[in-house]
Amino acid sequence: MSKLNPKQQEAMTYVSGPLLVLAGAGSGKTSVITQKIAYLIEQCNIPAERITAVTFTNKAAREMKARVSSLMPKEKTRGLTVSTFHQFGLQFLRYELLHTPLKGNFSIMDADDSKRLLMELMMRDNLSGAESRELVGKAIKFISDWKNDLIEPDKAMETLDDPEDMIFANLYALYERNLRAYNAVDFDDLIVLPAKILSENQQLRDKWQNRIRYLLVDEYQDTNTAQYELIKLIVGPTGKFTVVGDDDQSIYAWRGARPENMALLKEDFPKLKVIKLEQNYRSTNRILNAANTVIMNNEHLFEKALWSDKGQGEKIRIINCRNDDDEAERVAKEIVAHKLRNGNEWEQYAVLYRSNFQARMLEAQLRQFQVPYKLSGGQSFFARSEIKDVMGYLRLILNPEDDSAFLRIVNTPKRGLGPATLEKLGLFSQEHSISLLASCTHGGLPHVLPSKAYSTLKEFGDFIEHYTRELDQHPDPVPLVRQMIDETGYIDFVRSDSKTPQQEKGRLDNIEVLYTSIQALINRAEDDDDKTIDAVIRKLVLLDMLEQQQEEENTNKVNLMTLHAAKGLEFDFVYIMGLEEELLPHRNSIIAETIEEERRLMYVGITRARRELTLTLAAQRRGGGQMRTTTQSRFLEELPEEHLDWPANAKKKKAERDPTVVANEYMSNIKALLKKKNM
Ligand code: ATP
Ligand code: MG
Repeated sequence: MSKLNPKQQEAMTYVSGPLLVLAGAGSGKTSVITQKIAYLIEQCNIPAERITAVTFTNKAAREMKARVSSLMPKEKTRGLTVSTFHQFGLQFLRYELLHTPLKGNFSIMDADDSKRLLMELMMRDNLSGAESRELVGKAIKFISDWKNDLIEPDKAMETLDDPEDMIFANLYALYERNLRAYNAVDFDDLIVLPAKILSENQQLRDKWQNRIRYLLVDEYQDTNTAQYELIKLIVGPTGKFTVVGDDDQSIYAWRGARPENMALLKEDFPKLKVIKLEQNYRSTNRILNAANTVIMNNEHLFEKALWSDKGQGEKIRIINCRNDDDEAERVAKEIVAHKLRNGNEWEQYAVLYRSNFQARMLEAQLRQFQVPYKLSGGQSFFARSEIKDVMGYLRLILNPEDDSAFLRIVNTPKRGLGPATLEKLGLFSQEHSISLLASCTHGGLPHVLPSKAYSTLKEFGDFIEHYTRELDQHPDPVPLVRQMIDETGYIDFVRSDSKTPQQEKGRLDNIEVLYTSIQALINRAEDDDDKTIDAVIRKLVLLDMLEQQQEEENTNKVNLMTLHAAKGLEFDFVYIMGLEEELLPHRNSIIAETIEEERRLMYVGITRARRELTLTLAAQRRGGGQMRTTTQSRFLEELPEEHLDWPANAKKKKAERDPTVVANEYMSNIKALLKKKNM
């Protein structure tokens, strides 16, 4: 662990009041938080369980915990909370269940579930007459924005300019009612509900303010209104907290983040101390210079001047490619050649891009060259349909009230139930105020449904209820889960539904991976309460939503991720792809005139690099079924010319060989090796 500089030291030891550490990328903000946790425990004698640190992703939380543990004996860190806002909120709701509108077994709806529910509501109430995706997308955005701004359904209408948007306000009210009726919360509720409960209950506030003696928040610039309110409610008026952030790295405005919260802190906590850090410990000066120059084009809340003692470093390379295929191939070859030339590890490399689709071609190329890679922030394991289906069965078994799970699986695999039947079932469940599952086995159902539909539903209901009983407290649940899924005929369904043998194998493998993970979580659980399948599934559902990235055991791989997912991370060699107008900056941002946010994203990308940065662009790119000619990104023009190395004026270093030749050689070596192995 590196020794902190005097400014960092000051930030670490300042505990007498609220503190904001405001500093550019790579200046050691996260390092300050980690060391400060250790300082609070060891020097200030604050018990670990009275300290809470909030980070942006599960990955960051895990890393932070590990770093703290490396600074002191493990016993001392027991009870320390290092989590994301959402994890923290979930824990809060569990503790304070009695103060919530929820019952014990509440379920958590992920984005996909929320969407399905909204779709249902729109159809059921004929709000739109159409199940148009666009409308649902808009509704989700409206509702999430309202929630993150802590605006309740009855106040939502007042915020609307356009009377046509009224349907979204109505839908919001309906959606909330349904969530509560299903005893479910959505992702936003994990923050919004705790904030609401705390703001309405002085006693509870006192309890939590007393319980959390010190709060630390990383990536503070990306907190939204609800999160900021939650912070204020937890720390109370004395404000025992340290938050660290960089307004230039605020990249989640589209999710309600408010960089103004930085300025608000000063108003809400007049005693706020602000410490600025100016030395960057991550990057070479050319990289820093590029980052600083680009971000200068934005308006600033706070000026920062970063410097580093890592020398000038290499120029930033810009590679012009003919088209997107060529770009993917070039990046793959460059990485192979660079690695071989310098004897590096794969994990030192990262390829960043604006949109997930850009990874597809690159993945194919990397596979072609046998380069191990890991993709984070793409389609997560849990977002895959087979996983969601199996999880749907598990969720329904564990929580018979979970109507969204019911709707997902009642006809998967196909049981011949049409929309008319399901609508009638829905009405029936509303009339009797019972869940959809309970309706299936209700004595009154045969009177409203044709006998065939009824018997299918009854059979389905009995099946689920049977396994609910079987799985409850079962000492070895995983084989039972497997048996249940087999009995549903789901595996046969996957076989017949897959388009290629590879797809079929992939999907079946995924299901196996799910079983294995459930077993592993059960084995790993420390106390008995966590060993139940119920606890494990809850954990999986949460992991799924919060993480959106697969945990990888083998870490020596090239990192592929979106610019958003790269926040807070660092790599020796960084490639940013697709420096084109409409891609970076993104088309939507150009239309919405939110270029500044895209520029911050560019800034985040550049500042991930420790030693070398390469930017690529394609002259032509596929889109909408045809090749289109692209325009180079405005951000390229904003970079400092003197630190760039364009291919046209790139003089090849003598010893350096053409990457294509090197990569091809590497390929044939591998092929030879594989051949040998087979023999
Ligand atoms: P970001 O804004 O990207 O989140 P950050 O401000 O959180 O960056 P860190 O990730 O904490 O910065 O630190 C960047 C790098 O600098 C890390 O590798 C860290 O170990 C190193 N570092 C931080 N402080 C020091 C120091 N005083 N001496 C040497 N290295 C340091
Ligand atoms: Mg950081």
